[in-house]
Amino acid sequence: PTLRSPDQWCRSFSHFISQCLIKDFEARPSVTHLLEHPFIKQAHGKDEALRQQLAALIQEQQEFSYKSKTKHERINSRKTLIVESCPGDDLVNLEFLDEETIISHLHKRYDELQVYTYVGDILIALNPFQNLSIYSPQFSKLYHGVKRADNPPHIFATADAAYQGMVTFCKDQCIIISGESGAGKTESAHLIVQHLTFLGKANNRSLREKILQVNPLVEAFGNACTAINDNSSRFGKYLEMKFSPTGAVVGAKISEYLLEKSRVIKQAAGEKNFHIFYYMYAGLHHQDKLKTYRLPDRTPPRYIDSHQCKVMHDIVSRKLYKEQFDAIQECFRNIGFTEEEVISVYRILSAILNTGNIEFAAITSQHQTDKSEVPNSEALENAASLLSIGADELQEALTSQCVVTRGETIIRTNSVDKATDVRDAMSKALYGRLFSWIVNRINSLLQPDVNICAAESCMNVGILDIFGFENFKKNSFEQLCINIANEQIQFYFNQHIFALEQMEYQSEGVDASLVEYEDNRPILDMFLQKPMGLLSLLDEESRFPQATDQTLVDKFEDNLRCKYFWIPKRVELCFGIQHYAGKVMYCVNGFLEKNRDTLPADIVLVLRTSENKLLQQLFSSPLTKTGNLATSRARVTAASRSLPPQLGSGRSKVDTMEMMRHPDETTNMRRQTVASYFRYSLMDLLSKMVVGQPHFVRCIKPNDDRQALRLCRERVMVQLRYTGILEMANIRRQGYSHRILFEEFVPRYYYLAFRAHQMPETSKENVVLILERTKLEHWVLGKTKVFLKYYHVEQLNLLLRGV
Ligand code: ATP
Ligand code: MG
Repeated sequence: PTLRSPDQWCRSFSHFISQCLIKDFEARPSVTHLLEHPFIKQAHGKDEALRQQLAALIQEQQEFSYKSKTKHERINSRKTLIVESCPGDDLVNLEFLDEETIISHLHKRYDELQVYTYVGDILIALNPFQNLSIYSPQFSKLYHGVKRADNPPHIFATADAAYQGMVTFCKDQCIIISGESGAGKTESAHLIVQHLTFLGKANNRSLREKILQVNPLVEAFGNACTAINDNSSRFGKYLEMKFSPTGAVVGAKISEYLLEKSRVIKQAAGEKNFHIFYYMYAGLHHQDKLKTYRLPDRTPPRYIDSHQCKVMHDIVSRKLYKEQFDAIQECFRNIGFTEEEVISVYRILSAILNTGNIEFAAITSQHQTDKSEVPNSEALENAASLLSIGADELQEALTSQCVVTRGETIIRTNSVDKATDVRDAMSKALYGRLFSWIVNRINSLLQPDVNICAAESCMNVGILDIFGFENFKKNSFEQLCINIANEQIQFYFNQHIFALEQMEYQSEGVDASLVEYEDNRPILDMFLQKPMGLLSLLDEESRFPQATDQTLVDKFEDNLRCKYFWIPKRVELCFGIQHYAGKVMYCVNGFLEKNRDTLPADIVLVLRTSENKLLQQLFSSPLTKTGNLATSRARVTAASRSLPPQLGSGRSKVDTMEMMRHPDETTNMRRQTVASYFRYSLMDLLSKMVVGQPHFVRCIKPNDDRQALRLCRERVMVQLRYTGILEMANIRRQGYSHRILFEEFVPRYYYLAFRAHQMPETSKENVVLILERTKLEHWVLGKTKVFLKYYHVEQLNLLLRGV
């Protein structure tokens, strides 16, 4: 009460932290609460120096507390000589493994800002919704090549395990991050890349910087603000970091999946377009270049303000947007894009915004009613000029189309609605292809230098970060694709954790009680089966020009007889799906059009006449999307052998070829639909994942209000249930996550029991000898393999390295 001003408050507060927090790190949560005090907030806003001082102090205290806890646990683990994680860091160590205990445990940890918890070798990451100071280089050092039990659970430990696995076994690794929208997948992926670049110390500092800038650049074009997450990924991303045989990072490669192109032309209420449009607007405004890029400076273009609720001032004056624009410019430059390329990118983005402003009016004459024109040519001329094409040619391609019937070419005019659709289809195609081009360009700029590391000797750690499961008030085709992709990742997870594990125990004659788990395969079958799965039915209906939303719903109703699908009685043109992660109602409005994703040949032809080199490239080769066709085909065919049946089998060569065509391809054969391209993408993704040793990170969203330190038990409970964490804890407690053939085990570990020159026979007896001499316990022998717990391998590797 005696402290009257914010200034006094802050000083006293600093004093409070330095005096008592050092002694008691459990007080951290209450400090965070204090930060919310209006006086502190006020002081933050007013006095920059004070704010910085306070932030530095808090960070120092947090690091201190974290380290002291680490130290404390280290002493503990040495005292008891247990190699397993400290009790509590791993759910597997809990005495009771029921839902209530697990949730209370996670809650307690979350309150203490322990956001990470292990379940055996799987990492659970609760979104802290606040910046923690546990990701600095000091923390990277702390987690480098040490026993997992030495430190509290951490995302760096997972990255470290993948890296060590790659270096030790010369095997590609893959980190699969899953969780619903806003759970923290993308942030986790960034942190993994950060730690991996630290571990794979590139000789070349600039390469490290380039790799760190890949994510921000790609996300500026592929992420957007949604109702759930301000930085929501609207595409799937698989980033492969490439390492030399000695473990130095030598390059990177990204694969992108299913960008939500429809966002370019329209966004749901309260949502926004892709970030880059806003960054660019604010940045160009600041540089006084809006005119150069022919962008309006009073009313925001329709595409970035589809609900007409923002004033221009909101966009151009946002400090964050401008800063992000500068950061993106820096990323382009550092990664190696030329000045000319970057200008072309902004010209195309500006052209898209101008295209969105082109309006059409009906021309009604006696003979023709379905005819349209562009009454105000400003936006049309701007778009054409930015694309370096003729405005008249563009208008013609938008308002009419050439149709070849019985060998005769006729010109059909477009109604206003049709012309509007063509306009939007062109914008989507421009953005989609530009995005793919940026990704391909990054890949060529970050290719490993063959003089440093030949392509065949490179090893990878792949990081999968896809769009999370979504359930909005209104869900459309985009949500369906996103949720099917998540369904597939969950299936892969189940296969890996439960099904394959159990099959192997049985075939090796190892006794392990089987764990029941929720198998989502029937749902996946319902979506992906041919010819009667939901996606096939959608494709079939998309081929009928006369099909409507109603005929589509009828088709689903007639053919999908499955408990996971239903048509609600009272809501029209909707269907419901019981996903692994919950019930979702989909509204079929626009499904057919979105699936057809047609881009008239007239538009392709006019864009090909452009004098802009980049644009010519975007529309000249529709097959560039999946890279080299021959290698992609070989990979997909090889992978299909090891994939789940609904994706892996029954595909002919023609089918595979067909799927590799770009969805916008219009020139020949049957048109590629989004659904069939999607199916191909899923398979391509799985084919990459199955070749690596997987590591799983399950992100959990503690609440829906994005509030720090608030854990809603119900919400967390639901996520724990559908991700099978309880079952996972059980199987990890009873199970053996590593199964190594005797003939692999002996050569790998014989140094631990024999002299180096004494290469022993690869017999079962010698395996036992090594295990006994290393004093490991609780392992089991199968017919051809030794079954080890997740911590055994860590112990063996540390013994090998003499730690
Ligand atoms: P989507 O599926 O929509 O892409 P996501 O799972 O990728 O969602 P993120 O974008 O990674 O979610 O996280 C949402 C927000 O949560 C971030 O913008 C950030 O504010 C916060 N967040 C997540 N993880 C962390 C973390 N480790 N530290 C601090 N904040 C975090
Ligand atoms: Mg994301």
